[in-house]
Amino acid sequence: MAAEFYPEGALIAVLTTQPLDRTLDYRAPEGGCSLGAYVEVPLGPRKVLGVVWGPGSGDFDISKVRPAFRVLEAAPMRDELRTFLEKAADYTLTPRPAMLRLCTRAPGLGDPPSMRKIYRLGEAEPERMTDARARVLEVLRDIGGLSLTLGELAEAAGVTPSVVKGLVKQGAVREEESPRDTAFPHLDPGLAGKALAHDQAAGADRLRAGLRAGGYGTTLLRGVTGSGKTEVYLEAVAECLAQGRQALVLLPEIALTAEFLTRVEARFGARPAEWHSGVTMTERRRVWRMVGEGRAQLVVGARSALFLPYQRLGLIVVDEEHDTSYKQEDGVLYNARDMAVLRASICGARVVLASATPSLESWANAEAGKYDRIDLTSRFGASVMPTMRAIDMRAEDLPASRWVSPTLRREVMARLERGEQAMLFLNRRGYAPVTICRACGHQIGCDHCDARMVEHRFLKRLVCHQCGETKPLPEACPACEVEGKLAAVGPGVERLGEEAAELFPDARIAVLSSDMYTSARALKSEIESIAQGAADIIIGTQLVAKGHNFPLLTLVGVIDADLGLQGSDLRAAERTFQLMRQVAGRAGRAETSGEALLQSYQPEHPVIRAILGGEEEAFWRAEAAERRQAGVPPYGRMAGVILSSTDVQEVFDLGNAMARQDAPLRRVGAQVFGPAPAPIARVRGRHRVRLLVKADKGVALQPALAEWAGQFRLRGQLRMAIDIDPQSF
Ligand code: ADP
Ligand code: ZN
Repeated sequence: MAAEFYPEGALIAVLTTQPLDRTLDYRAPEGGCSLGAYVEVPLGPRKVLGVVWGPGSGDFDISKVRPAFRVLEAAPMRDELRTFLEKAADYTLTPRPAMLRLCTRAPGLGDPPSMRKIYRLGEAEPERMTDARARVLEVLRDIGGLSLTLGELAEAAGVTPSVVKGLVKQGAVREEESPRDTAFPHLDPGLAGKALAHDQAAGADRLRAGLRAGGYGTTLLRGVTGSGKTEVYLEAVAECLAQGRQALVLLPEIALTAEFLTRVEARFGARPAEWHSGVTMTERRRVWRMVGEGRAQLVVGARSALFLPYQRLGLIVVDEEHDTSYKQEDGVLYNARDMAVLRASICGARVVLASATPSLESWANAEAGKYDRIDLTSRFGASVMPTMRAIDMRAEDLPASRWVSPTLRREVMARLERGEQAMLFLNRRGYAPVTICRACGHQIGCDHCDARMVEHRFLKRLVCHQCGETKPLPEACPACEVEGKLAAVGPGVERLGEEAAELFPDARIAVLSSDMYTSARALKSEIESIAQGAADIIIGTQLVAKGHNFPLLTLVGVIDADLGLQGSDLRAAERTFQLMRQVAGRAGRAETSGEALLQSYQPEHPVIRAILGGEEEAFWRAEAAERRQAGVPPYGRMAGVILSSTDVQEVFDLGNAMARQDAPLRRVGAQVFGPAPAPIARVRGRHRVRLLVKADKGVALQPALAEWAGQFRLRGQLRMAIDIDPQSF
């Protein structure tokens, strides 16, 4: 069916990317435009991007309605994506323009091909060097092989486009035609996959049957690490591609992409489209267009790939669906897992949520029969789940400022002697979490946040993990000014690396922590070479827990299994359980069986016991019972409201006013708690307080929240962010 068409001069409503709370009326440009068309419209003195959202509202003075400038050269936004955008905006209480920005994050979107010029460093020196010119050249030098359009280059350098044009005239910058969008190589779903084991084959059959039946449906694909979930969902991808539909695979970490792309290439004979922050702007532009024209069959990427303009999306896989990085914590607050389900339900696609340790939300949805559930019970082939044991740290003889127990040390030694790899896991970046003055007891904190500064010897600086602020390690204590008394307290991976070097002087040790690599690419190649045996001992943070294959690894030592059990976070138990199981899953993936040792001061803690016993089902049930009792997600509804300001009084005043004027919430039976200092009470100099809103499961919370929050005006420095389904509560 052809989309609705508006002839030239007809009144149209346009949703723009500008922060306005409604659509604006325009007249259809020369040649007319269809519903969903990307258009450029005048807004005051500016030209802005928008999408034709429907017939004009007629709310504006007809004589003043201006014509849109032009229709951009891109396939119109489909009804399905417009509906998704609206529903996602309503669900997350995000203004629609902000959602539209997520959908149009294709650099240069709308430039006609003839205008898609790119700029590179030229040979000549500029006749006269100015600051602005120097900045342009510096940007071009920095980006290496990447290419930028005029707008991007000018913006990156903080200059007007005329500065760039001037440099072009002098030959210091070269202007080139942008390469034409080349299509992606064809992925062949007809190629044979691996011969599947019995339970894998049964799972693949179920997923295929779902795709053949058509329509929306979600399946939780559960199985320990190494059970072959990826092989199974690749069969679903094959079915989807064979139907001529597009598929999307979401991964929680860019670092995981490389290994996955290789697997896709082995399975389908070519590499798919990639979409994440590490992809060049030129490439993103190409992916956005190809996806929109239906010429990219498979996209592999980060959560923002959910907002691409698919033509006929048939399948979304969310790998490691429990991963917390699927929750966007900046800007638009959304959980990619939930948005994947929403988008699929609108466009009639299937969803596969894959995990060794599903989120309690997904587990509960499967229990309730809303999701289908496939369990892969054994590890693929000969490899078995590692045996797990606790090392009771109370019984270990360990000097101060040492973290590897004698028992763990012996076990590592045994692996080294057999030529196998061992991993020491500690989820703490940097050298030491605390720097304390031994003279006065002062702890060095961030000037802008309510957080301690973490020493990073590798960077030779103190770093705030909250805001990223860094400063050199001072000689003297900033409080008492005594010199030479600052001491590192507690372990970080860098320090653990030092200890390991002393304990195992002959071993090759690799410390893997995200801050030690300048690019995802560098990290990726390091991980690959380690997997092939370039190190004997791997020391790592959370980063190593996620999905990498280390075939030679047979022992994982968890330095502090209790870390994460403390704190008021109700999800702490769930997180610890998931993380420990994931880490343990790294060991013994090949033929050799593995062992995981958990150093703990409280081995009798129910979570530690559940981890050791592998009693997943029991753990989930106990955790579910507690959540149900407390009426918290997934058995109740919750939202967080974060207020922030540079002025602490102002922020508490607003918080208190909001807590008092809660009539719109009470009307639907919702309760408000707080204001209380937010989990991170100060970030970048802004004080933060949080109100929590709780309601029963069936309550339509968003409209009530919108009405409640709408009663207050944000003056001065005040900001408000509403977080539906917060990660911590
Ligand atoms: P998961 O995604 O559950 O962690 P993978 O799909 O990555 O598991 O499988 C683990 C390892 O076993 C991979 O190296 C994979 O190639 C291999 N594997 C899984 N299933 C098969 C199969 N049917 N035939 C051969 N190798 C397989
Ligand atoms: Zn800070």
